[in-house]
Amino acid sequence: MIAALPESVEIREVGPRDGLQNETTIPVKERIALIDALSGTGLAAIEAASFVHPKAIPPMAGSAEVMKGITRVPGVRYRALVPNERGALDALECDADEIEVVMSISETHNHKNINMSPDESVRQIIELTDLAHQKETPVEAILSTAFGCAYEGDIAPNRVAHYARRVLDEAGVDGLSFGDTSGMATPRVVLELLDALENVGIETAQIGLHFHNTRNTGLANIMVAMQQGVRRFDAAIGGLGGCPYSPGATGNVATEDVVHMVEDLGASTGIDLEQLIQCGHLAEQLVGRQLPAQVLRSGPRTRTISS
Ligand code: ZN
Repeated sequence: MIAALPESVEIREVGPRDGLQNETTIPVKERIALIDALSGTGLAAIEAASFVHPKAIPPMAGSAEVMKGITRVPGVRYRALVPNERGALDALECDADEIEVVMSISETHNHKNINMSPDESVRQIIELTDLAHQKETPVEAILSTAFGCAYEGDIAPNRVAHYARRVLDEAGVDGLSFGDTSGMATPRVVLELLDALENVGIETAQIGLHFHNTRNTGLANIMVAMQQGVRRFDAAIGGLGGCPYSPGATGNVATEDVVHMVEDLGASTGIDLEQLIQCGHLAEQLVGRQLPAQVLRSGPRTRTISS
């Protein structure tokens, strides 16, 4: 018997943004088809687009067309990542249900990624949150490299907690998520961060976690986090993704694998796994190769072989 697991867990799909931004450009029509397919699985939130400058991340060009072209399913929150004011205005114009703003705890990664110091990022998050709140749109701050950085190595959990507290207090963001940008999280590192957050008064039930499966600890990280009361996790269909600015970082944890494990533990996700697996096959068609999700190959453990 596994003690104290949450009764329900929210899995947020990030494949159409975090995943596809690392691919050669996928046509807008196909990005829309993937989001529409995912919308029918029971997912509560989909990261649909990123309003970055098309020259910075060419695969995300056409995000406005994507946001306007998808068929919105009631109950699904369509989220958009924004790097600056221009992006925030564009995302709000496209009726994004939630805005995501990102800062890196690692000084080096933040400079390489968005050319700012972490303190400058906090100031920007304050401005973007104000802007979104004027349109009554909630904002989530994603603190990346929260579990380590490919350039700087270990990141002190207290440093992550310090910035988490600041974006909550100074910007008034509505949500907080912690990204394992370089795939350096292990169960030990996860527990250390959750402890540091608790020390600054941030409860595990308030936060979301975003793991990559770079060193094959993605599901173990989710398991220990669930045992500490975390109820929100990002995952990408098929295990798409990675970070173009973190050398060696491979894909996100696969949505199929996460849903399969979480449901088997008795926590409800509201997601239809067989339908999700169909979306995984669609994602493989779009990128033209086999993706790493393992439940995509093997099916759920209860699937019977028809003779
Ligand atoms: Zn990711």
